[in-house]
Amino acid sequence: MAKMTAKDFINREDKYGAHNYHPIPVVLEKGEGVYVWDTDGKKYFDFLASYSAVNQGHCHPKIVKAMTDQVNKLTLTSRAFYNNALGEFEEYITNYFGYDKVLPMNSGAEADETALKLCRKWAYKVKGIADNQAKIIVCNGNFHGRTITIISLSSDPDAYKDYGPFTPGFEKIPYNDIDALEEALKDENVAGFLVEPIQAEAGVYVPDDGYIKKAYDLCKKNNVLFIADEVQTGLCRTGKMLACDYEGVKPDILVLGKALSGGMLPVSCVLADDEIMLTILPGEHGSTFGGNPVAAKVAIASLQVLKDENLAENAMKIGEIFRSQMRSIKSEMIGEVRGKGLLNAVVINPKNGKTAWDVCIALKENGIIAKPTHDHIIRFTPPLVITEEQMMEAIEIIKETFKDFV
Ligand SMILES: *Cc1c(COP(=O)(O)O)cnc(C)c1O
Repeated sequence: MAKMTAKDFINREDKYGAHNYHPIPVVLEKGEGVYVWDTDGKKYFDFLASYSAVNQGHCHPKIVKAMTDQVNKLTLTSRAFYNNALGEFEEYITNYFGYDKVLPMNSGAEADETALKLCRKWAYKVKGIADNQAKIIVCNGNFHGRTITIISLSSDPDAYKDYGPFTPGFEKIPYNDIDALEEALKDENVAGFLVEPIQAEAGVYVPDDGYIKKAYDLCKKNNVLFIADEVQTGLCRTGKMLACDYEGVKPDILVLGKALSGGMLPVSCVLADDEIMLTILPGEHGSTFGGNPVAAKVAIASLQVLKDENLAENAMKIGEIFRSQMRSIKSEMIGEVRGKGLLNAVVINPKNGKTAWDVCIALKENGIIAKPTHDHIIRFTPPLVITEEQMMEAIEIIKETFKDFV
């Protein structure tokens, strides 16, 4: 049989797969560190890093080893039984982040659902809100995943349109608006405030300095749980271990996912102290795969790599270089450059009918893969293991690419 071309791979996905994504037309078959290779052997800088799931770089050898060692021994016990890896992970991650307990899940959406369920349990069992009256405040522009309840919180019609009826019990307020939060907190049925410290999917919206701290303090004043969705901003992406660390805030409920497995398999979790976590009793929540031994071992290795390789410091340093270099490019197509650490976005002003999508196609031709978000924004989020030399090489490619759009 003739070798399959990129077009063949794409057509096959198109024919047999649901059309719920619109990928950049590149077919990848290998990854290592900051690089990926397509089926024709062409090498690219990966400037998406699987939406920050691959902070540690593709196929990190220590994480691969942790995974393959465990896969050969025991993969899944379900939580009907104990296994010898889960407790090790639980001890490790609770010490790592300083919480009493962890509840392991798989996807980020599941972890956010878990956080919402925990918040409601706490509302009824601890705070004393009347049955079914608990309210959780969320922000416009949020992204917390794709389940029905989570899209019930969304302000993006692409996410929620034609999926109703929606889950009640949530109130949306503007992001980065302390007055709006203060007003919403006047309702004594409010149990929690769920927020991303930087809105990544929305297009990397960095709130004003002090917003997260002020929001946390208001929550404390009103006996409301501060719930941080750090699925994307966490694990060194923004130049600190957690984005909340910039303001010295320790969330009551912390939600992690994505890079918790270095991109090996879906691993997510929720961290909280006993007063909150122990409100959920046996049989009241769970997941067949949550806390499986492979996930446990992979997560420990993934967290260890973040510290061993100083990835927060690297993200901070390389991120500053990236933004200052981007701002120095003279192109009418480049609007605002914003971000923190290696979570960055460049706003693209369309020119002669050319949009962010066209820029991403041209970048791909030149050896960098990145993805537009909301038509006019390109996110640049490479693996955090990127060196200064690699970043300078990538920046040259980006500069050359923009020259072709005059
Ligand atoms: C990606 C993401 C999620 C959802 O994670 P999945 O694993 O895709 O379900 C939730 N919150 C934030 C902030 C994310 O970036």
